[in-house]
Amino acid sequence: MLNKNEVYKTEITGLTAEGNGVCKIDSMVVFVPHTAVGDILEVRIVKTLKKYAFGIIERIITPSKDRISLDCPLSDKCGGCILRHISYDAELAFKRQCVYDAVTRIGGIDGAIVGEIIPSENIISYRNKVQLPIANDNDGNVTVGFFARRSHRVIPISGCLLHSGAFDPIIDAFIAFANKYKLSPYDEKSHSGLLRHLYLRHAMGTGEIMVCIVINGKDIPHSDDLIKNLLLTNDKIKTIIINENLEKTNVITGRVCHTLYGEGYITDTLCGISFRISPLSFYQVNRIQAEKLYNIAREFADLKPRETLLDLYCGTGTIGLTMARYVKKLYGVEIIPEAIEDAKINAKVNGIKNADFFCGDAAAAAEKLSIRRVKPDCVIIDPPRKGCDSILIKTISEHFSPSRVVYVSCNPATLARDLRIFGELGYEVKRIVPVDLFPRTGHVECVVLMSRVDR
Ligand code: SAH
Repeated sequence: MLNKNEVYKTEITGLTAEGNGVCKIDSMVVFVPHTAVGDILEVRIVKTLKKYAFGIIERIITPSKDRISLDCPLSDKCGGCILRHISYDAELAFKRQCVYDAVTRIGGIDGAIVGEIIPSENIISYRNKVQLPIANDNDGNVTVGFFARRSHRVIPISGCLLHSGAFDPIIDAFIAFANKYKLSPYDEKSHSGLLRHLYLRHAMGTGEIMVCIVINGKDIPHSDDLIKNLLLTNDKIKTIIINENLEKTNVITGRVCHTLYGEGYITDTLCGISFRISPLSFYQVNRIQAEKLYNIAREFADLKPRETLLDLYCGTGTIGLTMARYVKKLYGVEIIPEAIEDAKINAKVNGIKNADFFCGDAAAAAEKLSIRRVKPDCVIIDPPRKGCDSILIKTISEHFSPSRVVYVSCNPATLARDLRIFGELGYEVKRIVPVDLFPRTGHVECVVLMSRVDR
């Protein structure tokens, strides 16, 4: 039995999917954050449970060959870049291994099918979106930043290496404005105060920037001065939006937006198509890598001019619209009404006439389409982290029975679970390519090609 607070010498032999180092001390599994495979350490035990324990680094005796020196001043407080202390090559190998482990262990699939991971062209300043909590600092001044690990204390974000460099001056201007007029940050406990989140997006293909301020109220005082000060920071700010979130919730945005300046959206380009992005619509956070992801998905889809393509969980229509010119008909389904509005407009402004978009739950919409005798030859699915509804997988395999299914996933575990169900319903996995969209963080994206096994 390990003792809490005791220090033990050990070697890290693996990393979990969450990026924690794993070692064995007295035949007990111990998880140690911020470690690398091959680290020889003194570890202090901080928590013991029946089957495993948690430790922290007391001293690094011999560092792993994967270790690199930390280049971020925030990393000891922030929990975002869980892989920043290892080389990018080691990170890529780790992410490919996570995919391999998930599909073999959960999916029951031969891991030999997992291809090389596609590295990210940029590993700094790639993030085109931030949603930052607004709070008071210790001196009672407004600050904007991120929550310190396992706490609700807000740490100023300035110097973050992941997000667009365009954001820092905007954040500073917003903080100065809030302090000038002594505006109150939102307080979760008392559900009072005005300013909740500062939400920024940078369309890196066009340079356009969106500023959205999420408030617990309807209006922001002195908004003319806010607009003036924000616009002074960057002439690419195309729109400034207020999002009302009056609910007692940890969901960041509310359903109602109104525009203070500009058109209420920004435009970006992806794979040669232009996309309107409004604040409530999903948009991939790493544009260059999203293009690579979509190109692989298109290659996997192998579309023919007479075919019908169904894009489920389509967001603003990005994946389907970049492929519309290769098919006869495109259908897209998405649950957020604003995203579907964007998708319809995106089809129009790009002169795409063969696309129809529907707002609704993917499983329910798929069933309705099947009743209407829509018969897609290829189905693309790109669900959120929780993966697909098993009813949807049934509808796809039994009613549509397309020859190809392309699954884009941001969570190897739910992907593997769903691939197993597809397997039971007659689909065989042909290709799996991991793509790194989120360098230095623990997340990894995958594109999978499945084809129907003809019975
Ligand atoms: N394919 C798009 C969006 C992928 S993100 C792109 O690459 O940009 C996943 C999308 O699924 C989000 O837009 C989310 O709003 C949507 N979504 C979540 N649950 C859904 C459901 N039950 N039915 C349909 N869409 C859903």
